[in-house]
Amino acid sequence: MNKEVEKVWEKCLTIIKDNLLHEQLFKTWFLPIKALSLENNVLTLQVPTHFFCEYLEEHYLDLLIKTLRRVIGQNACLQYTILVDTSIKDNPISTVLPSTSGKLTKNNKPVHAPFPIPTHSNEGYQNPFTIPGIQKITIPSNLNENYSFENFVEGDCNRLLRSAGYAIAKKPGLTSFNPLFIYSAVGLGKTHLANAIGLETKKNFPNSTVLYISAEQFMQQFIESVNNQDVNQFLLFYQMVDVLIIDDIQFFIGKKGTEDIFFNIFNSLHNKRKQIIVTSDRSPADLNLTDRVVSRLKWGLSDELKIPDVATRIAIIKQKIRQDGISMPEDVIEYLAYHINTNLRDLSGALISLIAQSSLNHKDITLALARQIIDSIVKNVRQEVTIDYIQKTVCDYFHVDVNKISTASRKSEIVRVRHISMYLASKFTKHSLATIGAKCGNRDHSSVIHACKQVNNLASIDRKYKMCLEDIEKELSKL
Ligand code: ADP
Ligand code: MG
Repeated sequence: MNKEVEKVWEKCLTIIKDNLLHEQLFKTWFLPIKALSLENNVLTLQVPTHFFCEYLEEHYLDLLIKTLRRVIGQNACLQYTILVDTSIKDNPISTVLPSTSGKLTKNNKPVHAPFPIPTHSNEGYQNPFTIPGIQKITIPSNLNENYSFENFVEGDCNRLLRSAGYAIAKKPGLTSFNPLFIYSAVGLGKTHLANAIGLETKKNFPNSTVLYISAEQFMQQFIESVNNQDVNQFLLFYQMVDVLIIDDIQFFIGKKGTEDIFFNIFNSLHNKRKQIIVTSDRSPADLNLTDRVVSRLKWGLSDELKIPDVATRIAIIKQKIRQDGISMPEDVIEYLAYHINTNLRDLSGALISLIAQSSLNHKDITLALARQIIDSIVKNVRQEVTIDYIQKTVCDYFHVDVNKISTASRKSEIVRVRHISMYLASKFTKHSLATIGAKCGNRDHSSVIHACKQVNNLASIDRKYKMCLEDIEKELSKL
């Protein structure tokens, strides 16, 4: 360091120290900086890591600019040299980054292939994250081609997240859905939707760098980088991504080091308006991570994928069999959709086993075969008969369109199926009267009480009515 730059930087440090609230901040963020040169009003500072530089830019840029202008003059410019540790320990490689307030400078020596095993390509998209001098790299996206938007059926259960996903794929990083936080119980489409957004982004921006990674793989890579002493390479690699998808982030709970590095990467990507998509088995509020990470995860949009209703489950089955080029009778599709109401993974599993059994035994897919084969699966996954299934069984019995139950119609045949459905739902399910009423035409709990009284009265005076009721109960007890 020559005398002049030394003096200049010392003056700057005095001003900076005076302006910081705590001495510790000064020690942490300014003492490790070395001033390397001052040429044509450009002050070059050497910082230990890329993250360090990002942090300075995020938190202290104003202070740095004001200080530099006071000491060097109005034309002062700032640039950083970052020390990147490589395996060749005694030959550290530096790379020059302009401050966001500075101007671009010459390229430096190329940095070797970043983390973990990207393939090289020289043409195309200029990734804004490419540090001057670093070679353009192509990172395999790791996306599952089957998990596309085309294969992702829309329903009330996923409408908001699905449309947010489309919006993100049109303008990754630039919508208010950054980060996008998708949460749900197992098997409800988190991984599928996250992949769909990645695939759609690649379709819209073929040269963008999209990376899907499970939280577990992310942690393994990080641990490996710590063991190989190349954490900086790990950071550099992730800072090059345009859309980062981390699946099942609840895996970070209790893994402090991984959480911290994720925090750094999150900040760095978010500052550069890069897109972050995270999935989890619980909401951000229930995620037992540090407050600073949780608060960032709430910055964008977080929403839950819910259990799809019957109509959506039917559409999903139809979409899956269409994809596989298989046809299936409507009653079999309905049987599956009505009975498997836990999650879509169970539904896919049941469907696959039905198709497999039918083709192995050269049997047509009939309701009888479906019952025979699926019953064991259903018994394992079914918790209780659903209100939907009760409504369908009642309506099928009286040949009434099931959608009529939820209308305001007072026609006697519709009132009859509505009342019987409410009565059976209160008898066979654990749902509250309010829920049953809401599901049966948006009625309140007193309507359900009234319906139950009516059904009991009629059954005690009308033998035919009573027999109908018994038939339907028998049908329901087949489950
Ligand atoms: P999660 O990650 O929440 O555990 P997955 O994304 O693995 O769930 O989804 C489980 C299965 O359900 C997958 O086969 C997926 O394709 C399917 N699936 C989930 N949601 C939908 C949907 N809306 N449309 C079609 N298939 C879906
Ligand atoms: Mg998943």
